Amino acid sequence: MHDYSDLDSRYAAVTARTDGACGCGPDSPGGCGSRKAHARTASSCTYRPGAGRPEPLVVVPIDPDTPLAVAAGLGPDDLIALCRACYTTRTNAAAARAAARHAERLAAAQTSIFDFDAA
Ligand SMILES: [Zn+2]
Ligand SMILES: [Zn+2]
Repeated sequence: MHDYSDLDSRYAAVTARTDGACGCGPDSPGGCGSRKAHARTASSCTYRPGAGRPEPLVVVPIDPDTPLAVAAGLGPDDLIALCRACYTTRTNAAAARAAARHAERLAAAQTSIFDFDAA
């Protein structure tokens, strides 16, 4: 068994899976989900850090809603390497979903507090 509390070996294991490139693609869960962003490459992101591309990849949980405390203990199978652009797009999409869920809960709570049918 590997000890993935070592962040460097975890990063290496995850990025090796995609040969050092961004792991975002149409068939990869945890990607940015933006086909528009990768329209020129048939919906797969091809970002690979290197010459002229100084931004390193970020290794994050496949499930964007994973709490930080849980994420710290995940192995490579539950992680994905994303470029900065895909990560930002994914984060914004997850935040929008969370806001929509919150609005739904709020509406449901208000419906039960103000039960107009009972009047
Ligand atoms: Zn990407
Ligand atoms: Zn992407």
